Amino acid sequence: MKFTPEQYRIADEKSRSFIDPDEIWSFINSAEPTPERVRAIIQKSLNKQRLSLADTAVLVQTTDPVLVEEIKEGARELKRRVYGNRMVLFAPLYLGNLCQNNCQYCGFRSTNKEQKRVTLTQEQIVKEVEALESVGQKRLVLSLGEHKSYDAEFLAQCVRTVYSVKKGNGEIRRVNLNAAPLDHAGFKLVHEAGIGTFQIFQETYHPETYLRYHLSGPKRDFDWRLTAFDRAQDVGLDDNGFGVLFGLYDWRYEVLALIRHTNHLEACYNVGPHTISFPRIKDASAMNVSPEYMVNDEDFVKLIAILRLAVPYTGLILTAREPSSIRKAALEFGVSQLDGGTKLEIGSYAEEEHPDNQDLKREQFKINDDRSLAEVVDDLLDNKYIPSFCTACYRRGRTGEHFMEFSVPGFIKRFCTPNAVLTLAEYIVDYASPATAEKGWRLIDETIAELDGDKFKDELVTRLEKIKQGERDLYF
Ligand code: SAM
Ligand code: SF4
Repeated sequence: MKFTPEQYRIADEKSRSFIDPDEIWSFINSAEPTPERVRAIIQKSLNKQRLSLADTAVLVQTTDPVLVEEIKEGARELKRRVYGNRMVLFAPLYLGNLCQNNCQYCGFRSTNKEQKRVTLTQEQIVKEVEALESVGQKRLVLSLGEHKSYDAEFLAQCVRTVYSVKKGNGEIRRVNLNAAPLDHAGFKLVHEAGIGTFQIFQETYHPETYLRYHLSGPKRDFDWRLTAFDRAQDVGLDDNGFGVLFGLYDWRYEVLALIRHTNHLEACYNVGPHTISFPRIKDASAMNVSPEYMVNDEDFVKLIAILRLAVPYTGLILTAREPSSIRKAALEFGVSQLDGGTKLEIGSYAEEEHPDNQDLKREQFKINDDRSLAEVVDDLLDNKYIPSFCTACYRRGRTGEHFMEFSVPGFIKRFCTPNAVLTLAEYIVDYASPATAEKGWRLIDETIAELDGDKFKDELVTRLEKIKQGERDLYF
């Protein structure tokens, strides 16, 4: 597809105008978090209405501990009512750490001479994917630096390679990407290769701060990054993942900016972000970040609860950057996707032990939850969450599934819960220890019992039997 310069210009202008720091600060500074107002906003969200920038500003300005607890309880209640107890699991796969950019928080940055530079070959990718499949992973997010050798064709090739690997009953059924922004033709190419979500984190929506932390390379262009999803939408890639790297600038501003970006996409393309990620800065090799805006645990949990209420139909992703204690707390407030068994050292899924593992030389930053996928699954089951590897909506062409989960009555009961149960059953049969299997079947039985009287229950039970007999990849 060819775009005229005029079409590029329109896409750019539509986007560039939507982040106005003065406007965002004026919402924050004029917010009045009275108990009545805070409670009305929580109720609005529980009534399944999206929050406005003014509403969100009131929540980020709430400091009264009683009201903060009510915000958290509101998020818990929304999650309980709308999403239930499913937790989607995935793993990141780092492909290479060549990078032309100079992001002051990242171990991959071009000026970091300590970093050993590696790019996986297609054969090495196959080995990594086999290792991931052999522990039960079904969903991956591919991640890498920004470099001229990592062009869209390279990305598309890697995606095709990942999908082609089948090990035993294992296969990767959804490949997401976390990569640098592409042009229209590039987005079209990776879309055609069959990616799920394209994630691009703006890092900070504050233009001045952005320039302070992105000293050189293509990423220094704030607007090119900000307009990325407009270009993706233009070529039909409508599944996008927003993110902010919390700790670069004031978290309250960033939360409002995420909502502003959401408003922009909804207004222009009638679709919001599929997911939002909210990494907090973690230690990285030769990092250079001022501690001024680091987000403490209390504010971090609060901002997750606020995001849950503000964009109730967007998936929220929390990664192994955070320790398991924070991850557990955050689950209650609406996180819907977690990574499990994460390894960030490039090429390390297929390796037993690597001498560089301890010293950040091949990884982007330090992770704080290094539990295996088996341990994460077991822990979720202990806490009555259904670990889910579901990829059904994407493969059935039902895009915008979080929106449907939220707005279509019965959607979760009809599709999400049965699909979560079916993928858990596959995991149990193929990969789980006897102790985990016992917990898993118990939770499956309890979940089926709750579907009593539901017309889909019989079909689910039939399909579970088929899985026990060796059939795979059954979904609604
Ligand atoms: N290189 C591409 C880019 O920058 O868009 C791909 C993404 S990068 C591999 C993944 C994300 O990791 C970045 O967008 C950033 O938010 C996050 N990140 C970088 N350094 C980090 C650190 N020290 N702690 C936590 N997250 C970090
Ligand atoms: Fe490169 Fe991305 Fe790291 Fe920036 S965040 S240095 S672009 S890998």
